[in-house]
Amino acid sequence: MKRTQITAADTRMSTASVCRSVTDSLGIDGFEWNYYRAAPEETLSVCYHAHPDEEEIFHVIEGTATFETEQGKISVDAGEVVRFEPGEFQHGFNETDEQLTVLAFSAPREPEIGGIIECPHCGERDQPRAETSADGTNRLYFCTVCDAEVNRKD
Ligand SMILES: [Zn+2]
Repeated sequence: MKRTQITAADTRMSTASVCRSVTDSLGIDGFEWNYYRAAPEETLSVCYHAHPDEEEIFHVIEGTATFETEQGKISVDAGEVVRFEPGEFQHGFNETDEQLTVLAFSAPREPEIGGIIECPHCGERDQPRAETSADGTNRLYFCTVCDAEVNRKD
């Protein structure tokens, strides 16, 4: 048995000010469980993206999340849960003046970034190319079309 305080779980590099991975802390095998706190103007993901084989579920605990989706922009309020199907493009962010707190679940767990991004620089959609940084501490992700860096993870 393992247990953790959700607010004390392992920290992950993120575009949100807080990303705590319950998956890492408890060694969960089958899915991802991340706790996000995003201040006004922060985002839950780097850019508009989709996971070909992974469904993503977001439970908004506090505040309102906004998602860009293939059906346009939607708002998800505290107490609501939204599910994106495998292959469905989305990008979540906080465009309110309040704090946003979200629990994000996704399954099956991807070994690395397996998603397809819409490059914020050139607009093309492709799976990014991954490299390890020179100091060995981060994985860097690049657009295969324009070569811009689109993400990094510790
Ligand atoms: Zn690009």
